[in-house]
Amino acid sequence: MNADLSRLPSMTVLLKAAESFNGLRTESRVVVTESLRIVMDALRAEAAAGSCDTRIESILARARAHIQSRGATRLVRVINATGIVLHTGLGRSVLADAAVQRVTAAATGYCNLEIDLDTGKRGQRGAFAEQILCRLTGAEAALIVNNNAAATMLVLHGIAKGREVIVSRGQLIEIGGSYRLPEVMSAGGAILREVGTTNKTHLADYERAMSGATAMLMHVHTSNYRVVGFAENPTVPELVELAHRHHVTMFDDLGSGALLDDELWKLANEPTAAQSLRSGSDVVAFSGDKLLGGPQAGILLGKKSVIEQLRRDPMTRALRIGKLTAAALEATLELYQSPDEATRRIPTLAALAEAADSLTARAARLADALKKRLPTESFTVRRDESFAGGGSLPAWAMPTAVVEWRHAGNASLDDLAHRLRMGQPAVLPRIADDAMLFDARTIDDNEIDELADAVKTAAVGGE
Ligand SMILES: *Cc1c(COP(=O)(O)O)cnc(C)c1O
Repeated sequence: MNADLSRLPSMTVLLKAAESFNGLRTESRVVVTESLRIVMDALRAEAAAGSCDTRIESILARARAHIQSRGATRLVRVINATGIVLHTGLGRSVLADAAVQRVTAAATGYCNLEIDLDTGKRGQRGAFAEQILCRLTGAEAALIVNNNAAATMLVLHGIAKGREVIVSRGQLIEIGGSYRLPEVMSAGGAILREVGTTNKTHLADYERAMSGATAMLMHVHTSNYRVVGFAENPTVPELVELAHRHHVTMFDDLGSGALLDDELWKLANEPTAAQSLRSGSDVVAFSGDKLLGGPQAGILLGKKSVIEQLRRDPMTRALRIGKLTAAALEATLELYQSPDEATRRIPTLAALAEAADSLTARAARLADALKKRLPTESFTVRRDESFAGGGSLPAWAMPTAVVEWRHAGNASLDDLAHRLRMGQPAVLPRIADDAMLFDARTIDDNEIDELADAVKTAAVGGE
């Protein structure tokens, strides 16, 4: 028998030792036992192949690493230091406090999701949020579904199934891999009729493609890229005029969903839902968790006849939102009734609107907290640029302030970033020009101490 194999400690001994081992002590016995079994199987294989490390501490450390790596997919809180406000990987918008409270109330008890409390009769899910949306944007009707991909698919299915939808070749977007317009089009049962070229599409191109098979003109806001230079596309009002002259539906996929006309969106040159509706679009679609700053949802606004036709489509039932989404969206939209309040209390808007001096002040506070904990490390505050992210405002580089960390020890940037991601709470920094940056725009004031602690743990960890 192999010497190492006979030296391996027993499960009883390991479980006893795990009770006082950092990182295993707090895990449940079931989880610890399972990870020890997996590590012991690996050790037996290693022993059979030659030799293995049979020390109790190293076996326990391997079990801890196993639990940690498996836990990396469990949903945990993340401190977003990337500066990307709408980070799809980090769940896009952070909800306003008012929305969180409404979600908690809806989650912890029953709620009137589909009951009209006045009449006691069956009500309509999302009806209140739909009313606010109509009031805010001037839309005749609204319909809320699971996300903007669902909203778009529903419009294609409900209005254009088996018929043609005309789209400019400059607007055949892909959003984060799994969403590609030509594929969404066929999944919705509509026939894509591409016109024009990547950089130039003329109104006449649309006009020539019109036939008895045409159901709809679709305008897609190129939310995550810009075609600049020798480029041209008809405007929404021009497309509306053409669509209506030919008695077909005009659909505007706005994507990022800036809701109201606002200084911020003017600055960012971002079309709003209110504007597209005023231009005469029959139906517009956008996400709830991008520039709107609410929960994941797809919002459809438009003419009553069009929205009611969509509401009757059997697909709508499969795309409907849950009560938690309805609660969060309602509360977020209520904040929009006062534009100042919206900008102050909806975290996405507040982050996008935050002024440079306030960002610099936060970066300075973070640098102080870091220097206090790690006096031998280098932390400098400097100006930088950040982007909205989440497939929004790609051309809008916002001036921001970052803390730049240059590590005094031997660990590589990748190692440090890995330690930060695996910490509690997890931290995602921005890495640029061989330095680690913490961008003040996406760090909350009350995360500064936690973030500094996490950096300290990462800096000393393993050295
Ligand atoms: C983001 C986006 C989508 C997809 O929206 P989800 O809410 O992520 O489903 C579709 N179209 C455009 C133009 C977008 O910007």
